[in-house]
Amino acid sequence: MEKLISGIHQFRKQYWSDNRDLFQRLAEHGQSPDALFITCCDSRVVPSVFTQGQPGDLFIYRNIGNFVPPYSDGTLDGTGVGAAIEYAVDHLRVGDIIVCGHSDCGAMNALYKDRKAFAETPHITEWLKHGDGTLKVVEDNYPEKSKEERLAITAEENVLVQMENLRTYPVVRKAAQEGRLMVHAWFFEVGEGKVYGYSPEKGQYEPLHLEEE
Ligand SMILES: [Zn+2]
Repeated sequence: MEKLISGIHQFRKQYWSDNRDLFQRLAEHGQSPDALFITCCDSRVVPSVFTQGQPGDLFIYRNIGNFVPPYSDGTLDGTGVGAAIEYAVDHLRVGDIIVCGHSDCGAMNALYKDRKAFAETPHITEWLKHGDGTLKVVEDNYPEKSKEERLAITAEENVLVQMENLRTYPVVRKAAQEGRLMVHAWFFEVGEGKVYGYSPEKGQYEPLHLEEE
């Protein structure tokens, strides 16, 4: 906790002082973020750091495994993420939605564990069901891969499954049809600090940074 408090002192002294105008502008005019960014709760994935953004840039929604449960009239436990999607697209009018997975994701690892291991934590058991669609895609398409290879593939495929789910939301479909919304699948490689974007034309993830960087 001391680390957090001293961080706040440091923030006030430096970052806030340097960016006082930005904060005042945001307070006066409200937020107008460029994108809705859906990613995992993992503490190593910090979108505003790896995109070098500022307050006000990203409307961020996090959950374990960066799952986007399919649209369900708000009756299932995807309500939180569904509300974030509807608010971002319909009210904030963001131009882009990014779903970003990452390497070494605990949720992806957990998908392959016996669910009985989570008997004492029923919310985890329930939440992991949102990964069942991803598991099926990996099992159907990569039956010959080793367990380790499958884990890496699972995290990447999981983002693509969530992209499909995203398109089940009427606000997303409508905004995309009106040409004011794009959706993107990203992947953050923690150890390398690299960010990849999925190219639907090429059917693969490609680095979003310049190769020589
Ligand atoms: Zn994760």
